[in-house]
Amino acid sequence: MESVTASELAGFAVGALLVWATISAPRIDAFISSSQRRSLGMCKRCGDLRMIACSKCKGVGSTKSGGLFGVNILADFYESFGKDESNAPSIPCTRCNAKGRFQCPDCCSQMS
Ligand SMILES: [Zn+2]
Ligand SMILES: [Zn+2]
Repeated sequence: MESVTASELAGFAVGALLVWATISAPRIDAFISSSQRRSLGMCKRCGDLRMIACSKCKGVGSTKSGGLFGVNILADFYESFGKDESNAPSIPCTRCNAKGRFQCPDCCSQMS
């Protein structure tokens, strides 16, 4: 084993290390970028708005009386007579407390 000296071993190790770094560098970059995207990723539920629109009132905060199906019928009825839709009485949305939006449960769970 006299043909293999310490310097040759070191050179081989360095060469192997360089080869390994060259091969694995893109993978490391991909891993880091993916982890960064994950940490910097926007909330899938609210898009980092930290709140989601109420599905009942569509974010308006109030609902028209008459039920879900009666609203459109009343609106069309009033519009057909050239009247404002506001003639239909609106009541505060009971689901979101007339706020029109909720705090995003995903973001709130992270912030708390
Ligand atoms: Zn609502
Ligand atoms: Zn969110």
